[in-house]
Amino acid sequence: MNSHAPNIRPVIRQLDDAAINRIAAGEVVERPASAVKELVENAIDAGAKRISIDVADGGKTLIRVTDDGCGISADDLPLALSRHATSKIDGSDLLNIHTFGFRGEALPSLGAVGRLTITSRVPGEGAAEISVAGGEIGAVKPAALNSGTVITLRDLFYATPARLKFLRTDRAEAQAITDVVKRLAMAEPFIRFELRDVSNDPRTVFRAEAQSGDVVAALKGRLRDVLGGDFTDNAIAIDAERDGLHLTGFAALPTYSRGAAVAQFLYVNGRPVKDKLLTGALRAAYFDFLSRDRHPAAALFVDCDPQLVDVNVHPAKSEVRFRDPGVARGLIVSGLRHALAEAGHRASTTVAGATLGAMRPEPTEPRVYQMDRPSLGPRAPIDTGFAEMAQDFSAQVVETPQPMSNSEEASTDLPLGVARGQVHENYIVAQTATGMVIVDQHAAHERLVYEKLKRQMAENGVAAQALLIPEIVSLSAGDCARLLEISDDLARFGLGIEAFGGDAIAVRETPAILGEVDAKAMIHDILDELADLGSSQSVQAKVEAILSRVACHGSIRSGRRMHAEEMNALLREMEATPHSGQCNHGRPTYVELKLADIERLFGRT
Ligand code: ADP
Ligand code: MG
Repeated sequence: MNSHAPNIRPVIRQLDDAAINRIAAGEVVERPASAVKELVENAIDAGAKRISIDVADGGKTLIRVTDDGCGISADDLPLALSRHATSKIDGSDLLNIHTFGFRGEALPSLGAVGRLTITSRVPGEGAAEISVAGGEIGAVKPAALNSGTVITLRDLFYATPARLKFLRTDRAEAQAITDVVKRLAMAEPFIRFELRDVSNDPRTVFRAEAQSGDVVAALKGRLRDVLGGDFTDNAIAIDAERDGLHLTGFAALPTYSRGAAVAQFLYVNGRPVKDKLLTGALRAAYFDFLSRDRHPAAALFVDCDPQLVDVNVHPAKSEVRFRDPGVARGLIVSGLRHALAEAGHRASTTVAGATLGAMRPEPTEPRVYQMDRPSLGPRAPIDTGFAEMAQDFSAQVVETPQPMSNSEEASTDLPLGVARGQVHENYIVAQTATGMVIVDQHAAHERLVYEKLKRQMAENGVAAQALLIPEIVSLSAGDCARLLEISDDLARFGLGIEAFGGDAIAVRETPAILGEVDAKAMIHDILDELADLGSSQSVQAKVEAILSRVACHGSIRSGRRMHAEEMNALLREMEATPHSGQCNHGRPTYVELKLADIERLFGRT
């Protein structure tokens, strides 16, 4: 109960339009950037090919959006300003929406909290203008304009001083506007966008010329303009489909990851969304490729029949609801994984070349080690001073493999050579007859476990190891059912589970080959994998995918120190195992440098 509730009997009143619009504005227009978003979306809906946005003082004093779209006729101007008036739907089918707008709320809301003027002209008629300030609508007047629409919004929130107080600095608000414009521009490569700051000396903040050609090329060109060539050079085109949902766009290679989720742009039917389901799927797709503190970069577009997705969930329309969220998630996870795996495989043939290229001294430019740049791998060198480096090394000195008396001979006939040491607790450096190899121990081990699991599976099932105390994993009833349905298959590869009440399962056995595992994490991974695979996959494909997942759990994670014998055993096992040159995700497990390459590095040839 409100602490200062009056003792008098409350009276129920009908609020007037101005108050209603101010309340609506609270949801639709949070800050200047949201006003810009509404106005630019209206221009796109109007079929504009050129859109310019002028702002002053972070949009607080002026926002002006000019477009060359279809225009509004003089007769319709008052209607455009009245609440729930829209030309975009007739209200009969809220699940059949092809435009950004449909709620008819933006213009009346903006007119309730700022001074708004619409000047517009439809072909074949004279231009006209209407103004509204603090909810007071003026008369329609003739105006001068060649074509299209100009919407001017001054003194946003002057009518609601409380909201004004919550705005951030001009700079921060201007930055938010730039982000909004770029986000919209990325999805509309055929429209020209220009954003200017006219606070003092007018200057262009962002400009993207209209692209031409086919959609993929146009999109790539636009992404280059907005995100930079670094992104497009390191990104792969995505094109996948599942159950009526179509996924396109560009996703960056794992090596081009970011320190925060700042380069993730997701769109549903052209609408920029910030949706947990979709960002979660993006994360899941890169899960095996990136460490926890790195974030993938991608611009992804999900397109589908509007009936399959509800956009009327949020007043600012930044969230959506898919009719079948599992399909959307699965599409993103599998679409990206496939594309990345293929790219990884392709890249692996040039790894040594890339390594050499990266290692060769560059006399002109100093080398910048920056995590946000494409680097050699997910674990880029850390920028530490020499003093710290020296300390690090002394702290981490690895037990050097005992030189074996016959090591020279041995190295001649061993393709992967003899281990000479381990660096950064994940890379084994070995000497071969003709050069050296660097092995990613985690990737290699994962592959070996996977191959072994497959072999055992093909023979007479994977040996299981009974847990002393069964591990109880709580799950949703649906997930329990999904797992129990395939419990026979799971048993074949050494994972013994049974029902434990309605919403938990008991894990009784795990694959012996994996040693001690985190049964709970493994169960969750298997469920993820099942969700990603969807219903379309064959049982065989499912089993392989699950095996590959399970293999990760038995792998020597990076960060484990190994003894000489262990390292050499790993090398010998790799030589004896088919497909060991690449890990389960298509990345290489080792890189070989020939002596000649090394000599070239030092300018000896
Ligand atoms: P909505 O976009 O949800 O329809 P708005 O309040 O944003 O609601 O706009 C109301 C109406 O005004 C639109 O339906 C459209 O007919 C018209 N309109 C707004 N902006 C423009 C524009 N830039 N060009 C042409 N028509 C516009
Ligand atoms: Mg609108």
